[in-house]
Amino acid sequence: MKIMPKTIGKRLKAIPLFLPARRLARNLFFPFPAPHSRKAMALIEISSVCNAKCIFCNYRFGHRTKLLLPKEKFQRIAGACVAKGFQNLSLTSVGGENTLNPEFIDIIATAKAVGFKYIVTHTNGILLHRHNPGKLLTSGVDEIGISFPGFESGLFSTIFGTNGFDDFKKSIQGLLTEHARLNSSVRIIFDPRTTLTRKALLESEFCREFVQRFLNDRVIIQEPTQVFDSRSGAIKPHDLLPGMRLRHVTIKSLPFKKTFLCEKMFALSVLCNGNVRFCGCVFDASIDTENDPLYIDSLKNFKDFGDFLDHNIEKIHRIRTDFQNGILPSLCRKCTLYIPVSTKGIEL
Ligand code: SF4
Ligand code: SF4
Repeated sequence: MKIMPKTIGKRLKAIPLFLPARRLARNLFFPFPAPHSRKAMALIEISSVCNAKCIFCNYRFGHRTKLLLPKEKFQRIAGACVAKGFQNLSLTSVGGENTLNPEFIDIIATAKAVGFKYIVTHTNGILLHRHNPGKLLTSGVDEIGISFPGFESGLFSTIFGTNGFDDFKKSIQGLLTEHARLNSSVRIIFDPRTTLTRKALLESEFCREFVQRFLNDRVIIQEPTQVFDSRSGAIKPHDLLPGMRLRHVTIKSLPFKKTFLCEKMFALSVLCNGNVRFCGCVFDASIDTENDPLYIDSLKNFKDFGDFLDHNIEKIHRIRTDFQNGILPSLCRKCTLYIPVSTKGIEL
């Protein structure tokens, strides 16, 4: 009997101890479906300042220019994105914390008003309590991702490099209480980056005594992330704690290991300083400069984002096509956050 690729994929998925091989097989043969269009997701950064120094993140090396995007500037960029056909927005910082922007909620409401259909935002949750939770939940946001090191004070200092646990608790208490009171449909996704197992997380005191009762299909704690990308070699194994490790780069000698385009090459990120780049995940010391390997151009050179796109569409197409042909931006070569997607039937 002929074994179809889908069946092989399912079989590999069923072997938990075989993760590196599974990833390699996926990269070679089983790409995810591509977003419906190349304009699927815009990322607009509203803060390049962070209040944490996570041990697995290169923000702490001080590569970012510390800026907050004012609402008026955001509105111009967001409006032009929607006019150009972008429907979904991720308020994602490439090393930064959204809640440090005092206009955080007004910015989300503006994104909704200019016409984005789906809006997701990310935070480490520590200073969320500075913003009104009811206003946030009714601002038009669809999903709030909260990355955190576990529900314990010690983990905040050892993993996130901050004494922010009491603030975090206050933020989560306010958010979840209001979420339940409003019977809100906003999805709240807790994204643990920790040494703890999910079971240990669920059993920690704050989770047991407060968080657990709010968990449902809209308030979710994901499986903890314990394996991390090295951020192009900036993060070393000794930076991490026991129970955490760096993911190995898939065997370099296989030239076809990144055969498909990475999903993150569909995301155009507008940084606080006006630079536009691919991907909202990985950066190095060259971020905020034209030497950033994922840099496309700067909004400062154009009337608006629409004008930027009109002038850069060929370049964007070329970089994506090069990727498919094996000519990768240097940051992508070592990156383990690669998500292969099939681009059949969509224009690059
Ligand atoms: S991972 Fe996020 S919260 Fe942690 S230092 Fe980096 S940007 Fe800040
Ligand atoms: S391979 Fe890594 S750095 Fe490159 S676009 Fe994908 S996630 Fe970003």
